[in-house]
Formats: sequence, structure tokens, C-alpha cells
Amino acid sequence: ELSDAREVALQVFNNFKMIHPDFSFVMDNDLEEKTLVKIYRNHLEQVLIILMDNAVKYSKERLEIHLSVSKNSRYVEIAVQDFGEGISQDDINKVFDRFYRVDKARSRGKGGNGLGLSIAKRLIEGYHGQLTLESVLGQGSIFRIFVPLNIEAESLPAEDK
Ligand code: ATP
Repeated sequence: ELSDAREVALQVFNNFKMIHPDFSFVMDNDLEEKTLVKIYRNHLEQVLIILMDNAVKYSKERLEIHLSVSKNSRYVEIAVQDFGEGISQDDINKVFDRFYRVDKARSRGKGGNGLGLSIAKRLIEGYHGQLTLESVLGQGSIFRIFVPLNIEAESLPAEDK
């Protein structure tokens, strides 16, 4: 159940670029090579699709989405940033609840049940990762996925590999 975070991010990025030609997608990728993380590939891909899909759905005038991928000694971070309608401080914690949608009247036309983010958060936390949100109403949002790096093998002495 290991996946290559770099490969998954690039693949989802390229798919969204093809599907939404009206948007400009910007990739900031710090990973130069295959980077294994402890999560099943389809689960990481699914979470990234939920975040990218929301970024598209909740953008308005500025149709721009940034995807950045980086790592520290323990985690890979994949951040999805949009410049859309944003989320108020009151709603920031609620959007991860099942069936919660910020503005029912406004969101109704956009489809969805308010399930995507709750599923995404449970999935990531199930792998001992984190899903965080920073947002400013009217300015946009940044969702960050943190998934644990597969560091065991690399940190072993060479003769033990
Ligand atoms: P679905 O079940 O198809 O994912 P949804 O988009 O309504 O539908 P969530 O993904 O769980 O459900 O999102 C919950 C709510 O959080 C949304 O209805 C929306 O109000 C708000 N939201 C999510 N992502 C963003 C975003 N990038 N910008 C602004 N609001 C957002």
C-alpha cells in the first residue's frame, strides 16, 4: 500500500488541465524523483481529486489553481490553492462534517452532498496523515494533505537493505 506521491500529483494535475481548459493550473513541484508515501494509491488520488474538484467548483472570477508538492523529513505535503469564494472562520471546522455545505442556496446549483471533504479527511487520517485548511472569505482557500513518507527502508544501513 505504498504510492509515489509525485506520480499521483502529476497525473491528477494533468487530468484537471485537460478537463478544465478555462482554468490556469500552476504546478510547483519540489520532488525530483519518485517519493514513496504510506497510502494506497487510489486513496491518495481520490483525496486529491476531491480537493481539486472543489477548487474548480468554488472558483469565481479568478480561474487559477495552484498545486504544490514538497516534503520534510517525515511527510509529503500536497497543497491545493484556489482564489475563489473562500470559507469563513466559523465554517472552517464545519466543512469537514458529513453533509455540511456552507451556503445551501448558493451551493445547490453546483451539485454535491457535502460528503467529499469528510471522506477525504477520514481517509487521510486513517493513514496517520493530516488534512488542513486555511481560508479567507472572498479570497480563496488552501487545503494541505500531509501523508507519511516511507522512510524505514531509506534510513536503514546499506547492508540491511
Ligand atoms: P460533494 O459531496 O460532491 O463533495 P460538496 O462540495 O458540497 O459536495 P464537500 O466537498 O464536503 O462537499 O465540501 C463541503 C462544503 O465546503 C461545500 O459545500 C462548500 O460550501 C465548502 N467548500 C469546499 N471546498 C471549498 C473551496 N475550495 N472553496 C470554498 N468552499 C469550499
